[in-house]
Amino acid sequence: MASLSGLRLIMDDIATTTGSVTGKEWLNLGIGNPAVIPEVRDTWQRMTGEALTASFGDVSCRYGPSRGLPEAVEAIADYFNRRYGWDVGPRNIVVGPGSQMLCFIAAALFTGPGASGDTRLVLPMTPDYTGYQGLSLAVEGITGVEPRLRIQGKRSFRYLFDLPALEGLADVGLMLLSSPSNPAGRCASPEEIQRLIAAAQGHDVPLVVDNAYGAPFPGIGGLSMAPVWDERVINVFSVSKAGLPGERLGFAVADERHIDPIVSFLSNSALHAPQLVQSALARALRSDVLDTLVASVIGPFYAERRKFVESLLAGSLPEDIVWYLHTAEGGMFCWVWVDEEWFDDLRLYETLKRRGVFVVPGRHFFTGAERSEGLGRHPRQCFRISITPDTDTIAAGVEVIAGVLGEMRDAS
Ligand code: PLP
Repeated sequence: MASLSGLRLIMDDIATTTGSVTGKEWLNLGIGNPAVIPEVRDTWQRMTGEALTASFGDVSCRYGPSRGLPEAVEAIADYFNRRYGWDVGPRNIVVGPGSQMLCFIAAALFTGPGASGDTRLVLPMTPDYTGYQGLSLAVEGITGVEPRLRIQGKRSFRYLFDLPALEGLADVGLMLLSSPSNPAGRCASPEEIQRLIAAAQGHDVPLVVDNAYGAPFPGIGGLSMAPVWDERVINVFSVSKAGLPGERLGFAVADERHIDPIVSFLSNSALHAPQLVQSALARALRSDVLDTLVASVIGPFYAERRKFVESLLAGSLPEDIVWYLHTAEGGMFCWVWVDEEWFDDLRLYETLKRRGVFVVPGRHFFTGAERSEGLGRHPRQCFRISITPDTDTIAAGVEVIAGVLGEMRDAS
């Protein structure tokens, strides 16, 4: 916790490099920020404005309950009951300052030293969000299970869960995955979630499903993948990718035996999440404004953008290089695997940086993979491109990437 994980270092590198060199047009395809879509921004501004006018004195000038602002907690419960036929109430909900913090709290509560020894946070499938790497206070407190690879067609591949490996792990305290995943954009199917629940049952631990990119909002790609209610599952949701990353707002919905300790942890550590933006969220949920945004603006925006980037890659990357794209099921990224001996993700990163282009090297997403040789060089053969920059930036960046890949091939 006292140092930065691999990806944060790279993000720092991007921020300081792009900030310190003026007069140069940087092409940043490493962005983790959601696209700033004018209609989305304006809607949040309106919702926040309404909250400000109606309740500033009550919500911003007073402390509130650690579970969350009651109007937000109730709006969340009603929303999930209405939308998914769940039967949740305030007892099943906790609002936190971002879903990252809620994941950290879950890891702090359910892993680490315990009556029967130390337990770890387990990522059922790597690669997964690098932000998980900083969630444990214990050295070696996190491990990940490598996926199996399936090539499907000339330019496409997909990761599969290695369930026997997951089931065979010892000292599991909590399982955590993002779906749709960052970086690969993989959506766990309802059947896969059921198998993960069974694995969690085998280890007698909770399973956190991080829906930061999924349904019900922002619903990027995997619109049909409704979150699964189960007494073992802690579903975590974020408002960030639906347009408000700077306001730090997320919430968890789960059985109260999991929610209660999270509320206590939040109370002990942060008191509670910011309340003005909770009031704005409550308004957006009750008025169906958020559903409308997802269906008519956010969903189509990312679908269109993904189509654009995929066809750009297909038309630009050298034809004679063996490369694959992970099947795009959701999320904000394209995940490219260059299956060539000469390819190295860090070398690509450094070379691109010298040409003014940023991508994110893949190895940092393979938490725990450095201890295993199962995937061979695969973790060093991937990189992540964000689909959120404007199309001109993406097109110019991909052109440079294609050129550098050609040079790396020729030099091999
Ligand atoms: N989970 C995933 C998978 C993410 O990619 C991110 C941010 O990039 C987060 C969580 C952080 O979300 P929040 O802003 O709600 O803390």
